[in-house]
Amino acid sequence: MITEVHASALVGLDATPVLVEVDLAPGLPGFHIVGLPDASVAESCDRVKCALRNSGFQAVNRRLVVNLAPGDLRKEGPRFDLAIALGVLTAGGQLDPEDTLGCMILGELALDGRLRPVRGVLSSAALARQLGLRALLVPQENAEEAALIEGVAVWPARDLNQALRLLRHAEEPAAVKPPARLTGQRDGPDLSGLVGQLVGRRAIEVAAAGGHHLLLAGPPGCGKTLLARCLSTILPPLLESEAVEVARVSSALGLPVGWSDLRPFQEPDCGVTAAGLLGSARPGEISRAHRGVLFLDEVGEFRRTCLEGMRTALETGRIEIVRANHRFCYPADFTLVAATNLCSCGVYGDDNQECLCTPLQRMRYLGKLSGPLRDRIDLQVVVRRMPASMMLEAKPQESSSSVRERVRRARELQRGRGLLNARLSGPRLRSVVKLDQESYRYLARALDALQLSGRAFEAILRVARTVADLRGCPMVEISDLCEAIAFRCLDRLPTAEGGSVTLLPIRRLKKP
Ligand SMILES: [Zn+2]
Repeated sequence: MITEVHASALVGLDATPVLVEVDLAPGLPGFHIVGLPDASVAESCDRVKCALRNSGFQAVNRRLVVNLAPGDLRKEGPRFDLAIALGVLTAGGQLDPEDTLGCMILGELALDGRLRPVRGVLSSAALARQLGLRALLVPQENAEEAALIEGVAVWPARDLNQALRLLRHAEEPAAVKPPARLTGQRDGPDLSGLVGQLVGRRAIEVAAAGGHHLLLAGPPGCGKTLLARCLSTILPPLLESEAVEVARVSSALGLPVGWSDLRPFQEPDCGVTAAGLLGSARPGEISRAHRGVLFLDEVGEFRRTCLEGMRTALETGRIEIVRANHRFCYPADFTLVAATNLCSCGVYGDDNQECLCTPLQRMRYLGKLSGPLRDRIDLQVVVRRMPASMMLEAKPQESSSSVRERVRRARELQRGRGLLNARLSGPRLRSVVKLDQESYRYLARALDALQLSGRAFEAILRVARTVADLRGCPMVEISDLCEAIAFRCLDRLPTAEGGSVTLLPIRRLKKP
């Protein structure tokens, strides 16, 4: 007799239907799983046998073949344990085939029959709804996560025996509510505690308002990390649709599915591998930072494959990983904050110490960030160390909540146009950046003088648009362009001939 039970496999972030077929035939006792199982699925045999015995069921002394269809899709993880166990019981005549009909069943079995949570239940719930299945039977720990998808009956079970009672309608499934949405601000640094750093403060405000990527360069200890952390406190709260996207990534990684309005903040170590940062069969760090901030401290120390692999994600907000048989697509719409020293000894740019690096060494150091990557970072600022005297006589600073309000208003203007400014390019960008004759002539002169690339030119227009949005002004004026040009400090890198980074103070540029 052949029985069928519905389950689902996880391919990247998406769930795809899998049918668990069990055949019980006369012959030498054995338990075989076919259908491209990986090692963790193949080990299901032993878990299922023990769990069945320890839950009070008779040992199966016949030849069992389990097929996970479709056969050409690689199955991984112990998520099929419960479906296999129920299929075995149905094949053995201990469960009516009608009982499992139209149910999607997921869960890992412990040896004593208890159920353990599995990854990607959120996507599986969405699939169950799409397929019109009558219920989704999941381990208790996954129930709240599954309930985030409306229109699917979620049956939570603690162990194998309770799963059977639910399927036989001998027990009413417990009502499951989706987790309450947590609101409020992250514990962490507040802009009110950041003394001075006018350029840095302004840069993170512009980055937050337009979603622009940001490069902070400066000597160690000048406050780059603090600025990056403050950026996440001035971003507006997640919209509900965005929170679902963030929850899907956590679910696929098997992390607790947070259901809050806080934007993610990820700070991977510079030793991270390309697969860890960009993703492989599972989402990487850049997808964990989706809709939030990815902070790469000492960005030059990261592997080149990591940095270059990020280029498409920086532009499109998505990443595609191609493996032997599969193409994994992950969301990766984050704001990058990269921090770097200006030279290998770290002292260059510090007014109190003398850097001993040669211009060539400095050029090589900053050259670790390739031109194409730098071009994709709209805001590039040099952060200076604060003199001790300024720290002592510091006045109270503007708080994160008041900056966040300005950012919210600027983002609202952009929502009216359909895209965040950081995503604008080509004709779409030209259509929203309206320049008068005078501004146009000024920009043309600046481009000639600075010899900027086409991408840098577009970055200036995007940033100028955001600066004008922060003022609430539909026209982009010369002062907006000046500020945007000042935010391209690293376009002119130190050269081997002894040139240097141009440090343009914003205030001096207000009037051309
Ligand atoms: Zn140096």
